[in-house]
Amino acid sequence: MKRFLDGRPARGAVLAGRPTGEFDKVNSKPDVSADINSNMKSADTLDMTRRLVSIDTVSRGSNLELVEFVESLLDDHGVQALRVPSDDGVKSNLVATIGPDEAGGIILSGHTDVVPVDGQPWSADPFDPWVADGRLFGRGTCDMKAFIAAALVALPRMKSLRRPIHLALSYDEEVGCLGAPRMIDRIAAELPPCRAAIVGEPTGMQSVCAHKGIVALRTRVTGYETHSSQTHRGVSAVMIAARLVTFLDDAAARLAAECTAQTGFEPPYTTVHVGVIRGGTAINIVSRECEFVWDIRAIREADAKTLLDAFEMYCRDEILPEMRRRHAGAGVATEILARAPAFEAAADSPAVELVQRLTGLGGSRKVSYAAEAGLFDAAGIPTVVCGPGSIDQAHQPDEYIALDQLDAIDGMLERLIALQQSVHQAA
Ligand SMILES: [Zn+2]
Repeated sequence: MKRFLDGRPARGAVLAGRPTGEFDKVNSKPDVSADINSNMKSADTLDMTRRLVSIDTVSRGSNLELVEFVESLLDDHGVQALRVPSDDGVKSNLVATIGPDEAGGIILSGHTDVVPVDGQPWSADPFDPWVADGRLFGRGTCDMKAFIAAALVALPRMKSLRRPIHLALSYDEEVGCLGAPRMIDRIAAELPPCRAAIVGEPTGMQSVCAHKGIVALRTRVTGYETHSSQTHRGVSAVMIAARLVTFLDDAAARLAAECTAQTGFEPPYTTVHVGVIRGGTAINIVSRECEFVWDIRAIREADAKTLLDAFEMYCRDEILPEMRRRHAGAGVATEILARAPAFEAAADSPAVELVQRLTGLGGSRKVSYAAEAGLFDAAGIPTVVCGPGSIDQAHQPDEYIALDQLDAIDGMLERLIALQQSVHQAA
């Protein structure tokens, strides 16, 4: 599909606004992708993945350049897309229906955003993908632009459909599934009932029937500053925060110790983790401020609720009264930054069965990372996670997707299109 390459902006334009100097030396190596293209079945998907990766969609920025690009491709095929934007209009979800406005559609769902590359030791520019050793390297290659690329490349083949194929592209998945809820609300309200949603996160094309939920939180402790020789008059935000972190660590240890069932997750229990802590100004000042961010990755929603309730009670009944005895203005405030529900497909899920038939790969497994499947499932749409590439390479420096995974997703989509074209509903 040569025109995608023709439409690609000059490298200078793609890289504008990004610090690129450090990659220049490595990027001068010859790119062998042209040779590989001619030998690959999925050359079009490779080209399209490169095109999508070259559009920087790190979650902190806008994804609108990518959205516009996809809109124009859809437009080439006479498909109208619906934007479901963020409140500030800087980002947007995109929903499109290919085929008739009928029930029995299959949703192909992908997030457009990628995680940052800051501080990671990349061998070359993460947004100028390169091919080596049978792999395509670049930020977002496996998580999860190859899946989106394969769906876009398949558009010309999505002809004479008896039942629709829907594209559902979200923003801000990587920062806690912030964009998808409003998109899924519109899908649930406005599309005819769908047969399945396939969330194309990297699973090596295996069916994933469950993922953990996530609650991301920030806790801010406000103490009272004094000279550090006068600890009896101050309230140390750092030392209060340390107690709260210890409370969470104890809770995490308890959840691990109490876990007896084989839940199928790795690890098999709900986890609690503090990722960042910042506070204090000097060794001789009782600290006024300390904050930490933390997450709960829960097997079931009840675990998250129990833990949040216990944390709140500990703050209210033990920590706060003690702080306020020393200074009335001291306090602890916790806010939820993001939340996505756990996902568990029904034992006889039609979505899992569908994908197993399409891929020819039996069995299904559970994963510990959060994804958007719980949101689709909660909206009453049978859901499965299945996509090309491995989660082991996601979020890593030199993220890559093996080229044979591109063949695999192309093959699955070919069978999916045939299914939606067939007279009979059964796969
Ligand atoms: Zn992802």
